[in-house]
Amino acid sequence: MTAGMPVKPKRRAKGPRPKHIPQRMCVSCRERSAKRALIRIVRTPEGRVELDPTGRKNGRGAYLCDDPACWERALRSDLLARALKTDIDQETVDRLRAYAATLPPVQETPTESAPQKGIDP
Ligand SMILES: [Zn+2]
Repeated sequence: MTAGMPVKPKRRAKGPRPKHIPQRMCVSCRERSAKRALIRIVRTPEGRVELDPTGRKNGRGAYLCDDPACWERALRSDLLARALKTDIDQETVDRLRAYAATLPPVQETPTESAPQKGIDP
């Protein structure tokens, strides 16, 4: 009955896939960038707002770029709360602010060439 079924290889050949690439956008400056690191903040199913450096936590996520100014603006103007569709309590705001304070200042001059780790013989 099924003798005529051609055996399909499990692995598909490499090729262009029309796959949708999720765009990350900073909720504060609305800049979409793959170059600049975006940090994910997630509202967990329990309703807590947490930093998600791995980007893998369950829940509704929002992104902020690594510019402390974006964090300050997002926290002060409820942009982040709106993006996450939740209220962010003061304790969490303070925690996120504290995290933003640890971010390195943004440098827009990548003129220095990156040091090469593996040099070919
Ligand atoms: Zn931003």
